[in-house]
Amino acid sequence: MSTIIIRNGRIIDPANKRDEVADLAIVNGKIAPKSEVRGQKSEEIDAKGLIVAPGLIDSHVHLREPGFSHKETIESGARAAAAGGFTTVVCMPNTSPVADNPSTIAWIKDRAEATACVNVLPTGAITKNIAGEELAPIGSLAKAGVVAITDDGHCVQNHELMRRAVEYARMFDLPVLDHCQDYDLVGSGLVHEGHWSTLLGLPGWPAAGEQAIVMRNILLAELCQHHIHCQHISAAGSVSLIREARTKGVKISGEVCPHHVALTDESIQNFETNYKMNPPLRSQRDVDAIMEGVADGTLSILCSDHAPHAHFEKEVEFDMAPFGILGLETELGIFLDLLVHKHRKIPLSRLIEMYTVEPARLLKLEAGTLSIGAKADVTLIDPDLEWTVNIDHFQSLSRNSPFHGWTLKGRAVRTIVGGKTVWQL
Ligand SMILES: [Zn+2]
Repeated sequence: MSTIIIRNGRIIDPANKRDEVADLAIVNGKIAPKSEVRGQKSEEIDAKGLIVAPGLIDSHVHLREPGFSHKETIESGARAAAAGGFTTVVCMPNTSPVADNPSTIAWIKDRAEATACVNVLPTGAITKNIAGEELAPIGSLAKAGVVAITDDGHCVQNHELMRRAVEYARMFDLPVLDHCQDYDLVGSGLVHEGHWSTLLGLPGWPAAGEQAIVMRNILLAELCQHHIHCQHISAAGSVSLIREARTKGVKISGEVCPHHVALTDESIQNFETNYKMNPPLRSQRDVDAIMEGVADGTLSILCSDHAPHAHFEKEVEFDMAPFGILGLETELGIFLDLLVHKHRKIPLSRLIEMYTVEPARLLKLEAGTLSIGAKADVTLIDPDLEWTVNIDHFQSLSRNSPFHGWTLKGRAVRTIVGGKTVWQL
């Protein structure tokens, strides 16, 4: 029997409405009752001054395997997750081959089992080869163990096809996640359509291109009576649409990535490709609206859209560079620093809830709680620790982060998966 006691930490477990300084016992990889604290122990962890939270979940990452292991592997991505305080990550299907079939899902699960130090949960594609033309075998994907379907990076343009996907997913009680981008409105847009796109002569990606698909998803969620989750919301107008629909009881939700809170399109003026992402960085007005959406619960999930790219891929002209930046090792620090400390938009307990209870509910995961008997996935957080981001210390194989040199307040200091410490500061 292996017993671990985490002593004197402030346990914040939103699933059980618990916020108190206490000891937490882990026996044989599971959360154990308090009575076990007095029992035999093999390890004791001093958590004085630290937050003891359920293991954090990042519901939107790209681990790049199979197919792009020069950017990231499931093994390195999992290490980056652990270093960021995450015990569970949900990986997107835009790999090569695309995760649109049971054998690729089986390969990802085997690879994760063999190499990953955190829980890796695959999603499957909505359409074959993420081409938006023909549905993937959604029932077989569900049986293969995907936690959701999404064409992330792409967006199904045909509304009737999307309707059939949502109805198909409902039959298997499978969540639908959507990258919201209207191809006709966005065209070859690279950056937020506004002041800076005009000044720099870069093709604009209008906010309406996101809003049009958010609106489509609201209509389909109502029509199909099934939940649709809108990924990486970037525009003020999208926040308003989701807010209004949720008030009416429509099964719609949205998520927020750190760069859409920490940065605006002003950053693109030196054509630095680490500020190029999809959807793009938007205006201060959009950033303010997103923070309000987080504050009032309209946007319920925090995640990274961790998108590793090799140096040689990002070190090209702005219009040639791929979209996306790293996220796993900086997101918790950025959100703690901006949402909790600097702008005081949400309390610490809500931030933890948005990284645990909310994604677990959306994806129907048995995770995100410190309930007795639950798998002992635990994140220890020092909410006041000031630290400086250094890309040379990243566990990720890639280095494409615009946050190098930023000083942030708050970070994870220990990550425990199934009772085993997989990372420690
Ligand atoms: Zn996306």
